[in-house]
Amino acid sequence: MNLHEYQAKELLKKYNLPILNGKSYIKKLEQLEIDVNYIKGPPWVVKSQIHAGGRGAGKFLDPFNDKGGVQIVNTKSEVVNVANGMMSNTLITKQTGKAGKEVNRIYLEEGCQIEREYYLSILIDRKTSNLMLMVSDAGGVDIEKVAENTPNKIQYINFNDLSNFNIPDTLMQKLKFNDDEFMQFKMIVKNLCIAFIELDASLIEINPLVVTEEKKLVLLDAKINIDDNALFRQPELEKLKDLSEENQLELEASQNDMAYIKLDGQIGCMVNGAGLAMATMDIIKQFDKEPANFLDLGGTANKERAIKAFKIIQSDQNVKSVLINIFGGIIHCDMIASGIIEAIKELNFKLPVVVRFQGTNASKGRDIINNSSLGLFSIDDLSEAASKAVELSN
Ligand code: GDP
Ligand code: MN
Repeated sequence: MNLHEYQAKELLKKYNLPILNGKSYIKKLEQLEIDVNYIKGPPWVVKSQIHAGGRGAGKFLDPFNDKGGVQIVNTKSEVVNVANGMMSNTLITKQTGKAGKEVNRIYLEEGCQIEREYYLSILIDRKTSNLMLMVSDAGGVDIEKVAENTPNKIQYINFNDLSNFNIPDTLMQKLKFNDDEFMQFKMIVKNLCIAFIELDASLIEINPLVVTEEKKLVLLDAKINIDDNALFRQPELEKLKDLSEENQLELEASQNDMAYIKLDGQIGCMVNGAGLAMATMDIIKQFDKEPANFLDLGGTANKERAIKAFKIIQSDQNVKSVLINIFGGIIHCDMIASGIIEAIKELNFKLPVVVRFQGTNASKGRDIINNSSLGLFSIDDLSEAASKAVELSN
C-alpha cells in the first residue's frame, strides 16, 4: 500500500525526524488561504500529492505556468494561485504514464535553503534478508539514473543487528559530511529504521534528504510503502489508503481476498496459486500474446469466487479470451468445474473459455466442462491450452 508524501511525513514526525512544517488539503483550498499566514515563508513549497514520483519535473495537462508538480513560491498570493492551478488538474510524470494522475490533494510546506541533496532509502535486501540502507550524495535526481551511470556513488549498508543500526565511520567521508552532519545523519537513519519496523513498511525513501545552508539535515520528500500482508495489524495505516489512487478492479479483488493485477494483454487468466499464475502468464507470452491480468483465486476456488473473478475479468474491455488453469489439491477440480459453469451461466459470460485441470478429480472436472454444452474447451496439456486461448483471442 502506498501513502501520500504528506501522510508519510505526518507518520515520520512521530519518530523525531526533521521535517518542515506543512499542511495538507483534500479537494478544497479555502483553509489554505488562511493557513498560509501561519506557515513560515517565503519561500513556500506547494506540492501536488499523487501516488507517483517525478512530480517536480512533471507537466500539467492544463498548464497554468511553466513549472511542474512541486513549486517553490515567494508570495502568499502566488501560493494560493499555484495551489488552485494544481488542484483538480492532471499531472503527468515519468511514473504516471501518458494519462497522468488527477491531483486531488495539495501539501503546503515551509521552504528551506538547500546546500546539498542526498538520496536515502531503507528497504529489505532480499539477498541477505536484512534491513538495508541505500544512500547517495547524488540526491534529488533519479536514483535509477545514478545506479546506471555512476553505480559507485551509491552506498549500501546492511543491518544484521536490529538493536543498534550500526553505520561505519567510513561513510562520513564518502558522503562528505562533517562531524555534526554525520551525527544528525546517524540519528535519522536509526529513527527511520525504527519507523520502518514499527510501520511494517516495505520501503521508506527520502529523496531528497538535504543539508540546509544552516547545516541542518531535513527530509524534504518522503515515500513509504506499507507491506499489504501486514495491514491486518496496522488498522490505523489502512485508514490512510486513498481509494481514488487504486485501480478499481484490483481494489475489488483485494476486498475478496484475491490477488489481481491488471496487465495490458488480451488473454484473461484465472488460476489458483501465485506460482501457477506466473507459469500461465509465461506460457501465454511464449505464444506471442500478452496476459490481460494476473489473477490468483486462492485456495478456496468455489462458485462465489469464480463469479467474482469472471466479473472482474469481464469488466476489462481488452480481454478477448480466458484461460483457466487449476491445480486440484485440497479443492477438487469437479467442484471448481461446477462453479465455473454456474458462474458462466449466471453472468451470461460470452467470451471463449479454455479450461485446463490437473490434480484431484481432474477427469471428473473435464467431463463436467465437456458436457456443459456452453462451448467451453477442456484441454489437459498446458501448452495446447495456452495456444488454444491465444488462437481464440484473434
Ligand atoms: P518529486 O519530484 O516527486 O520527487 O518531488 P520532491 O518532493 O522530491 O520535490 C522535487 C524537488 O523540489 C526536490 O528534489 C527539491 O530539489 C525541491 N524542493 C522541495 N522542497 C524544497 C524547499 O523547501 N526548498 C527548495 N529550494 N527546494 C525544494
Ligand atoms: Mn523526491
